[in-house]
Amino acid sequence: MTEHDDPNRDRLKHHFSQRVIHQARHLLEIWQNLSRSEWNSAGLADLREACLRLLRYAERFEQAEHAQLAASIGNCLEAVERNNGRLSSELISELNQLMQRLSRTGLRHGDQFEQTQLPPLRKPVYLALQDFERAERLAQQLEFFGLQALPCEHANAFRAAMSERHPAALVMELDFAGGGLPLAEEVQAGLAQKVPVLFFSHEETDTPTRLAAARAGGQDFFTGTLDASSVLEKIETLTRVAHYEPFRVLIVDDSRAQGTHTERVLNGAGIVTRALTAPLSVMAEMAEFQPDLIILDMYMPECLGTELAKVIRQHERYVSVPIIYLSAEDDLDKQLDAMSEGGDDFLTKPIKPRHLIATVRNRAARARSLKARMVRDSLTGLYNHTHTLQLLDDARYRSRRDGRPLTFAMLDIDHFKKVNDSFGHPMGDRVIKSLALFLKQRLRKTDHIGRYGGEEFAVVLPDTDANAAHKVLEDIRQRFAEIRYPAHPGDLSCTFSCGIAQLIEPMDITTLAKQADEALYRAKRSGRNRVEIYS
Ligand code: GH3
Ligand code: MG
Ligand code: MG
Repeated sequence: MTEHDDPNRDRLKHHFSQRVIHQARHLLEIWQNLSRSEWNSAGLADLREACLRLLRYAERFEQAEHAQLAASIGNCLEAVERNNGRLSSELISELNQLMQRLSRTGLRHGDQFEQTQLPPLRKPVYLALQDFERAERLAQQLEFFGLQALPCEHANAFRAAMSERHPAALVMELDFAGGGLPLAEEVQAGLAQKVPVLFFSHEETDTPTRLAAARAGGQDFFTGTLDASSVLEKIETLTRVAHYEPFRVLIVDDSRAQGTHTERVLNGAGIVTRALTAPLSVMAEMAEFQPDLIILDMYMPECLGTELAKVIRQHERYVSVPIIYLSAEDDLDKQLDAMSEGGDDFLTKPIKPRHLIATVRNRAARARSLKARMVRDSLTGLYNHTHTLQLLDDARYRSRRDGRPLTFAMLDIDHFKKVNDSFGHPMGDRVIKSLALFLKQRLRKTDHIGRYGGEEFAVVLPDTDANAAHKVLEDIRQRFAEIRYPAHPGDLSCTFSCGIAQLIEPMDITTLAKQADEALYRAKRSGRNRVEIYS
């Protein structure tokens, strides 16, 4: 017997591989929970412990990529610790990137003889549909979106899969194997963490059934036809690795000591801050830092807080950013005057840290959800036209400052009118949504994706030159064309054309957008379903 088919050794490897996967997931889960709730020292300690354990298992199982990621995450967490638990934007963005990378890793065997592909980190989805062939087709569709799906043919196959491994989510048809609902109840019983279930039924169902479904872990209930993009959309929201975005607060106070004190209080609560002592540099800082909220001192030598608030409010982009005055002023009339000058709240010094933190959190959270509604397109959740251009402008500013390339791409679905005409408007909407989702999944978190118009999309790619962008979008184009949408009379597939332009200084974004548009036009003219670079 040679060394590498020794069954004991294989079992051991399998054992460790499971541990690495399990531990990586655990680490991501803690991160996810932390980013949903409040950053605190207990959470930080949990993260560190999970990270150390991942490092240990990864080293033992010779998973270089996991070991390296765990080590880097560990370094970041140590830096936070050294900083007395305070977060900085740099550390947060580094941690975000590392966590995203960790979530994308699959396990590969260290052993070059065997090249065994171990399962990817992301858990699969189980499909329990009455019609097995349909489940297989749905699985195929989901795979285009990078999701592993396992169709189950009958109740026992489903039970076996469940006892082997819990899925990220379960798609269960009410009629599956003579009763999907009891089957879902059966496997959920005794689970500490219920598996999210997406129930499906051809027919409309009554409220008692829906209630029972919700109790069996049902997160959603689809009726009518089941299409991959809505299943996927739901699964995405259930399983996405959070991109932790702590609140950002800009503090303007001529007293450095006061500014630093406020920073400390907020940083301790996981809020990222920047403090300015010179009020006149506030507009530049706003563009650069993009705060969720501003804290202003009332009396500063260069100008009054109320004057500064007025100037900020004159910029349409910043009309909804909350402004809170933090001042020793205790004259109520003066406070009210200040509020009428574009302020949202008035806090008097000295203030209890808990009070300050709660006020900032509530205001910032409200402002964020309002802003999300203002800048996003309701059908796709992508950025709308105006905001996409604003993001392009911000990206151009950074690219100029850092001397890094920047590329803008425009996409337009080919012959889309025909889709609407032959399959109906709702089908057209479905295609638009699925392209949106496809782009979100395949582009980086740092890219900005917008819905530019009806069936037109725009992508801002920072740190990317035209050739690199071409490669990425060409790959997306090919794969998107492979998607089949089940429809009548026959399945439908769609393509898009794309134009790309790279920023060349000095150039404004209007010109850049025009060049991308021209490249798109050329792609259309030369036959569609292709990606062209502006030249
Ligand atoms: P081309 O390949 O040249 O791009 O052809 P096309 O048919 O895609 O181009 P055109 O711009 O002439 O038509 C776009 C169509 O997209 C027209 C409009 O009815 C449709 N459309 C725009 N917005 C939406 C939407 O939100 N939903 C649906 N279903 N259709 C939309
Ligand atoms: Mg068009
Ligand atoms: Mg079109």
